[in-house]
Amino acid sequence: MKPPLSLWLHWCRVARQVVAAPRVAVFCDFDGTLAPIVRHPAEALLPAATRAVLRRLQQLPRVVVGIVSGRSLADLRQRIGLPGLHYIGSHGLEWSAPNGRRRSNVTAVSLACIRKLGKALDARLGDVPGLWVERKSVSVTVHYRNASRRAAEQARRAVTELLQQSSNCARLLQGKKVLELLPPGHGDKGQAVLRLVASMARNGRRPLLIYLGDDTTDESLFRRLGGNDLSIHVGSGPTRARYRLRSPREAARFLRSLAEVLA
Ligand SMILES: [Mg+2]
Repeated sequence: MKPPLSLWLHWCRVARQVVAAPRVAVFCDFDGTLAPIVRHPAEALLPAATRAVLRRLQQLPRVVVGIVSGRSLADLRQRIGLPGLHYIGSHGLEWSAPNGRRRSNVTAVSLACIRKLGKALDARLGDVPGLWVERKSVSVTVHYRNASRRAAEQARRAVTELLQQSSNCARLLQGKKVLELLPPGHGDKGQAVLRLVASMARNGRRPLLIYLGDDTTDESLFRRLGGNDLSIHVGSGPTRARYRLRSPREAARFLRSLAEVLA
């Protein structure tokens, strides 16, 4: 894996590429990318200045903006609080268009399985200090950011055992300090974003894609991005993204620079 390039050192080249593109799709992950990581996920907030720049970008005629997350669609939309954007929630299992129309590709059977697992996990882990079982619209997440190593191990064991007992009616996805159970057979953030951006093609050409993400679950997109797209990892650590920004604060600064060159 090649280490990513500092985006600011290559800003002139990036800006030229963006300015030359007839249309641009800017897609961002939420936690750790736009919103700083906080102790409890329920406390994550979008900085007002970042909201303002997302609105500015979305109003530019050749730009579309999308937000992608493992959070449920309803939670994500509420935290961003902007109309007119594409939203992809639950790692691509549910999404909404700029006109607000919501869609999901989860079957009733999968939903029943996820609900059952959520209930069982809550019963086993709900009272363990530092763990949080979040039962979402189409998935269940066990958060262990604030847990001891022993409690985190307990969570991992419970998830593995219950998955086996459920005859694998769900699949496990691991992110930053989270274990997440999702319906099987569905894609990931990467597939969801690429499918959506491909559907925006006109005369066989889709918009230039700029993607910002910080987590292992964002690598599913970085891995698939072509040479013409811009993949940007926010934070530190190994990544397949081409460029790096160090923090959500830098990501917001980048979005402001982008809005300036595209205006
Ligand atoms: Mg993230």
